[in-house]
Amino acid sequence: MVEIIAVLIIIGVIVIGILASPILVKQRRNAIKSRPFPPIWTAIIENHLPIYLQLSPDERRRLLGHIQVFLAEKQFIGCAGLQVTLEMKVTIAAMACLLLLNERGKYFPKLRSILIYPTTYFVSQTVAKGNYVVEERRDARLGESWTQDQLILSWEQIKKDTNNWQDGHNVVVHEFAHQLDQEDGTANGVPILPLHADYPVWAQVMTTEYEKLCHDIPRKIKTVMDGYGTTNPAEFFAVATETFYEKPRQLQQHHPELYQQLQRYYQLDPIHWNDLTSD
Ligand SMILES: [Zn+2]
Repeated sequence: MVEIIAVLIIIGVIVIGILASPILVKQRRNAIKSRPFPPIWTAIIENHLPIYLQLSPDERRRLLGHIQVFLAEKQFIGCAGLQVTLEMKVTIAAMACLLLLNERGKYFPKLRSILIYPTTYFVSQTVAKGNYVVEERRDARLGESWTQDQLILSWEQIKKDTNNWQDGHNVVVHEFAHQLDQEDGTANGVPILPLHADYPVWAQVMTTEYEKLCHDIPRKIKTVMDGYGTTNPAEFFAVATETFYEKPRQLQQHHPELYQQLQRYYQLDPIHWNDLTSD
């Protein structure tokens, strides 16, 4: 009996290993992307992601493919009595996948579950920064991103963000930027960059820009980025990403080096998404 169990465990490990191999994962994802995109999903995206209609046909095609993979691989859980709807899932997937628009080949690999609360929520537990947890402190809790498994969002806040694409605030973009930052296991404002040679420039630009924001905010100097970015370098990266997607012209005008780094990292230029993002 013990031998049979041992053999079954070994077979199970081998099967999991095969299914997780990069080639099979890619094949599986390509098959998912080739499925017809449900018209109801498109309608939800057009209603909730204003920037969608500004994307090029090729960008739209890629985004829809990413959304299909995202929805196939991630689990959504309603909290505090919330019933998760298709509208919620597609809206969150669409915003999150904007960050992946130009193929990175990864779909937030550490993330398995997205927890959705109906409104802002309160968490009584003590959050230890030493365990690589990014703690949210603005207003009440609007969202959180954990290095392991989970990301938490407030649907009320997401709806507000969908109606204000140009204000520089987007909780989904913010929390998923944390996921990118945390892909290497640490939340420090340094995501995995394409080349090893990219890190010194990234560090120099981000440090300079972070220090400038930390200088300007207490002195009430008008800034393009929200003051929440002064919390720490991880929050700076998340806030800079929100600004990059929602206020690209202002960011490029006032912080060209920062814009260039984000443009290079995300491999896209939101300024081209013209009208809706014009300041
Ligand atoms: Zn944050």
